[in-house]
Amino acid sequence: MAAVTRTPFIAGNWKMNLDHLQAIAFVQKLAWSLQDAKHDFDAVEVAVFPPFTDLRSVQTLVSADKLPLGYGAQDVSAQDSGAFTGEISGAFLSQLECGYVIIGHSERRTLHNETDDVVHAKTAAALKHGVTPVICVGETAEDLEKHGSSAVPVAQLRAALEGVASDADVVVAYEPVWAIGSGQAATPDQAEQVAAALRTVITESLGEDAAGRTRILYGGSVKSGNIAGFMREPNVDGALVGGASLDVTEFSNIARYQKHVGV
Ligand code: PEP
Repeated sequence: MAAVTRTPFIAGNWKMNLDHLQAIAFVQKLAWSLQDAKHDFDAVEVAVFPPFTDLRSVQTLVSADKLPLGYGAQDVSAQDSGAFTGEISGAFLSQLECGYVIIGHSERRTLHNETDDVVHAKTAAALKHGVTPVICVGETAEDLEKHGSSAVPVAQLRAALEGVASDADVVVAYEPVWAIGSGQAATPDQAEQVAAALRTVITESLGEDAAGRTRILYGGSVKSGNIAGFMREPNVDGALVGGASLDVTEFSNIARYQKHVGV
């Protein structure tokens, strides 16, 4: 595999929290907090994923104040335009200068019946519009018991990457469903084992160069107290953070994991 350095990536999934006014206040505070702590944004990339209705406000703030923060959406339509009530096109996200979009989060797979085919179509749609998909994969507690930790995430990623060009930019988030919002994170070793298996899938699907440069995040009950352990693993390049991303101090401490004792 080509020797490349992958920039660590700390991503905050706000889910259905914070309206557009709260988003403005939050993003300002987050940028101040990180800048005040002299965070090196080139060394560790930080992005937030607010609800759709906040994105225009976040774009305006980031662009007007030249904030070194990234942002993205939490979902995208597989369609470009037309009679799809309630859907949001990748073209619209691109117009809002979203760098990223989360695809196939377990809440969408479970609560909105998103299948691997839907995740695949949404991945293609994001790439078509120049928005980097953050493809979420992960096993439920039942999957874990029946098939072990890697089988389901590996199959989900294989399906999502089918037909994707080898030079495409994607981010993969390994999020064991049993760890999301439960307070019970995977161990760094468990995360590493699945991340390594996912990197093999990227090699098989997109080639060695892509496997070398693609960032694989861990997600599931990440906090400032456990992030450093995950970041020590060779195949874990960052974190997708849910609950803890709604607290400015906690989220900026996660982004500043390199400053934590023992790293
Ligand atoms: C998530 O929803 O993507 C997530 C990882 O949530 P939490 O950090 O709250 O477990």
